[in-house]
Amino acid sequence: MTAPVMILGSGLAAYNVAREFRKLDKTTPLTIISRDHAGFYSKPMLSNALSGNKSPEQLLMKSAEKMAEELSATILPHSKVLAIHVHNQEVLLGDDVRLPYRDLVLALGADPIRLPMLGDGASDVLSVNDLDDFAHFNRRLANAKTVVILGAGLIGCEFANDLLSRDITPIVIDSASWPLPRLLPQVAGDFLAQKLSAAGVQFHWGVTAKAVDAEGAGFSVKLSNGMTLQADLVLSAVGLRSRTELAAAAGLHISRGVVVDRHLQTSQAHIYAVGDCAEVAGWILPFVMPIMHQAKALAATLAGTTTALKYPAMPVMVKTPACPTVVAPPAIGSVGEWHVETSENGILAKFITDDGAMAGFALLGSATAQRQALTPDLPVVLA
Ligand SMILES: Cc1cc2nc3c(=O)[nH]c(=O)nc-3n(C[C@H](O)[C@H](O)[C@H](O)COP(=O)(O)OP(=O)(O)OC[C@H]3O[C@@H](n4cnc5c(N)ncnc54)[C@H](O)[C@@H]3O)c2cc1C
Repeated sequence: MTAPVMILGSGLAAYNVAREFRKLDKTTPLTIISRDHAGFYSKPMLSNALSGNKSPEQLLMKSAEKMAEELSATILPHSKVLAIHVHNQEVLLGDDVRLPYRDLVLALGADPIRLPMLGDGASDVLSVNDLDDFAHFNRRLANAKTVVILGAGLIGCEFANDLLSRDITPIVIDSASWPLPRLLPQVAGDFLAQKLSAAGVQFHWGVTAKAVDAEGAGFSVKLSNGMTLQADLVLSAVGLRSRTELAAAAGLHISRGVVVDRHLQTSQAHIYAVGDCAEVAGWILPFVMPIMHQAKALAATLAGTTTALKYPAMPVMVKTPACPTVVAPPAIGSVGEWHVETSENGILAKFITDDGAMAGFALLGSATAQRQALTPDLPVVLA
């Protein structure tokens, strides 16, 4: 029997590659192996599920069985891949099970970063990076009145906004001085912070959490400025680190992510990487739009038409209804400055390079209406 195209993981990257591949090739055997339940869900919905009144069960759109049927694929849920044997073209599961592949796609995602913290409650700090995490978080939210969120990035701000719909007070702390510091100029960040504060989010800027201690049924969080916060739960949202361990152990080239070329191929023939685990041309873009473009290009390559990845401009919507926000940050190393137009209801910030071109934007409040008009003026991310 022909060895299958094999995908490791069952997140958006894995299932988008599988769907795009099946559009082009209906017969080559396809195997999907995941250490989780392998059901299909949309990860972005985890940070607005509370306001949408969605239970974890409702967020699961399709079971692994249903996906297997739709994709004519063999799906192995709850199966952790332990190693990749590049020379035999096979992967190793528990109980010494070895499965051969024709081509292997790593869609392994990323792990939440855990900052070192003291205290007997530090190991109870939660993070939400998949549906099982969300189910756990959701159970722990019953009766919670206050949640401390570590990190005022995109995910931290989205969860903060979402918790308000449950009448829970989010207290967000960050070492920076405004939210989304890597995506927004200060004036825009201040605007977002002010809108979120008016809606009920509390912020502490320029601080880190030193220790988390269990206290009664909740926690006390000691900050670097000497303050102590009380909370029913602590949620960490300080960023992600690509899962590179399997690739590294197999001798593949890794940097911050699994390094791939414009064809999504790793340093090893017949092994590809996509999604949050992949570093393409120096970029790790942990968002849905890049995954869609990767999936289309890789599926074509796997189906026999070698296709290079291209990225258009890909603005990201931040799901903070208290202050609708769309960001298209300038490429790292862009030289120029932010030009900001402020009105009572919005902020329109354009990053203009020294030669007068717009390299990025941040649109907040009423200025988000400009998104369609401005996006065509952004540079493509990968030509
Ligand atoms: C709360 C939240 C909200 C977000 N909102 C947005 C948004 O609004 N817009 C946007 O563009 N992006 C958003 N993102 C980012 C986006 O959701 C991710 O970029 C995307 O879902 C990543 O998909 P992935 O398939 O690469 O990784 P994952 O979904 O993490 O999938 C990784 C898979 O690999 C499996 N796996 C790992 N190790 C092994 C192993 N050894 N063996 C077998 N299987 C393994 C896992 O079980 C999992 O199935 C959000 C992210 C989060 C966390």
